[in-house]
Amino acid sequence: MDGSQTPTKPKLVLILLGPPGAGKGTQARMLETRFGLKQLSTGDLLRAAVAQGTAAGLAAKAVMDAGGLVSDDIVIAILRDRLAAGDLGRGVILDGFPRTEGQAIALDALLGEVGLRLDAAVALEVDDGEMVRRIAGRFTCKGCGEGYHDDFKPTREAGICDGCGGTEMVRRADDKAETVAARLDAYHIETGPLAAYYAAQGVLTRVDAMGEIGEISAELGCVVASVTAT
Ligand code: AMP
Repeated sequence: MDGSQTPTKPKLVLILLGPPGAGKGTQARMLETRFGLKQLSTGDLLRAAVAQGTAAGLAAKAVMDAGGLVSDDIVIAILRDRLAAGDLGRGVILDGFPRTEGQAIALDALLGEVGLRLDAAVALEVDDGEMVRRIAGRFTCKGCGEGYHDDFKPTREAGICDGCGGTEMVRRADDKAETVAARLDAYHIETGPLAAYYAAQGVLTRVDAMGEIGEISAELGCVVASVTAT
């Protein structure tokens, strides 16, 4: 470089760890807007594959309906395709990936393929009772994807999206009580230990996610700001 060129800033890579209902999706959407990042949710990518009837979607559907974890091979392939497609903004927030140690090990290679590396992992911590309460009441606007909750974040006018005025609200099939229990088991057995995995690498921040959405968002903002400053 001859000094006249400004090096392009490397894209940020942030992992959001946490059980279903911890608020990963909500927080990821807020970070997207504030920092120009892209939320990459393997749950969303899998639901899209199911809706499109792709081979991966067909293989994943029964496992997702039962609240289990889709095989590492399928999820890794789906994330690899998404990363390769580009449109990664100023960086990515991985929401719902990795969920197993195998995925965590694969992630470094996946990021390396597109010239990225992990900057930070945040564990959103909530207790099981709170998770069940949050999941039970949540719904989303089909039009714009804005998330709501019967008790904690209702729409201003019943049945009408505050953001886009849409009137079609959807509840996830796997948010029903029986499935939630299986999802929590999968979380505790497979995903919970990843906090220690990232703590050992010195990149983990733990955030108490029992509190108010705005306070949690502010804490996450500090994590993003601290890694972008280094
Ligand atoms: P989510 O929207 O993150 O709650 O994911 C919904 C469902 O998709 C999960 O219950 C799993 O069945 C599946 N899923 C999403 N991400 C992963 C992943 N990283 N590994 C395995 N299964 C996943």
